[in-house]
Amino acid sequence: MKIKRNFVTNSSTTAYVCIVCGETVGAYDSQSMEDCGFMQCENGHELCGSCLPDNIDVMKNEGDYEGKILEKYCTICTLKTITDKDLLSFLQKEGVIERQNEENIIREQFKNYEDIQKCLKRN
Ligand SMILES: [Zn+2]
Ligand SMILES: [Zn+2]
Repeated sequence: MKIKRNFVTNSSTTAYVCIVCGETVGAYDSQSMEDCGFMQCENGHELCGSCLPDNIDVMKNEGDYEGKILEKYCTICTLKTITDKDLLSFLQKEGVIERQNEENIIREQFKNYEDIQKCLKRN
């Protein structure tokens, strides 16, 4: 009888998820965030290569970079980009949407997850 051995300790991975676009990259323990093209701001926002601020080179030249993107350059910290999560929280807070209601509408209109994904991709 064969015994499955799926738990190989040296293959454990970390995943970096871009807070702006959701791009996810799995990294082995030996790979740093920068090896994966990701950078983090001082408040912990992880950004992928395509979502980094434009002035990243200026920042490095001015010595404004110490392994982390400074808050004043981070697209999230400066509100240049508002994440879907923050936007949703704000709308709920303002009473523009009521999560429970919207969820019920979604459940009434769609059969399953695949169904709603089809609709969301259409626009
Ligand atoms: Zn990104
Ligand atoms: Zn930030």
